[in-house]
Amino acid sequence: MNPLQVTLVPALSDNYVYIARDDNTQTTMVVDPGEADPVLKVLDENGWNLTHVLNTHHHGDHIAGNEELISRFNAKLIGPKSEHARINGMDEQVVDGDIIDVGGHKGQVIETPGHTRGHIAIWFAESDALFCGDTLFALGCGRVFEGTMEQMWNSLLRLRSLNSTAKIYCGHEYTISNAKFAISIDPNNTKLQLRVKKFEEMRSKNQPTIPSVLMDELDTNPFLRADDPTLAGELGLSEAKPVDVFAAIRERKDNF
Ligand SMILES: [Zn+2]
Repeated sequence: MNPLQVTLVPALSDNYVYIARDDNTQTTMVVDPGEADPVLKVLDENGWNLTHVLNTHHHGDHIAGNEELISRFNAKLIGPKSEHARINGMDEQVVDGDIIDVGGHKGQVIETPGHTRGHIAIWFAESDALFCGDTLFALGCGRVFEGTMEQMWNSLLRLRSLNSTAKIYCGHEYTISNAKFAISIDPNNTKLQLRVKKFEEMRSKNQPTIPSVLMDELDTNPFLRADDPTLAGELGLSEAKPVDVFAAIRERKDNF
């Protein structure tokens, strides 16, 4: 089976909606449609019929386009069971460890609470594609709105353990803001310095910085490195537990 081909669709002010497509089976899945119009435009231009809608969590900027898209294409809506009260009309409610089948493409459900209580990520191993909503971003992570710092740290640890070649399809183009913060707390990280430069060049040409690749995040994303003694030391937190280092980094970013 060919890997899913992923198209980025910019939406709202800084969201990314994704269309994952298999031309052989004509399977077409949209992930987190925060609005319908830009998605419809891409579908119409390509003559694609939407078959699946996938939601990672209940926030409006990830689901507001659901109804219009589903009513037009009669697509199947898949989302987190624990957010069923906050996402209307789910056809398939999934929990941790479930395997979804999208036209033969198998996606592993990973519950990643923290940003919201019921947030999920979906890992399509054969396509090396991770759809992780607002849990993990390029050089950043989501704000911890509903869960605890410990939940979010554990969610990131689970995503960190995936194949290092995983392409990270996250919910927002927050990379420059994340980069400014990351370099402020980790200024001597040469890999980070190079990435920041590259991202600034990309954004100056209005290119998306997404997807990033997990192996690059492992060395440069401070939120994935809360258990790295070097970073903890730089923050003056050598004695602290990783979850407390993570919480300190998250709080600093919230106030950055
Ligand atoms: Zn969100």
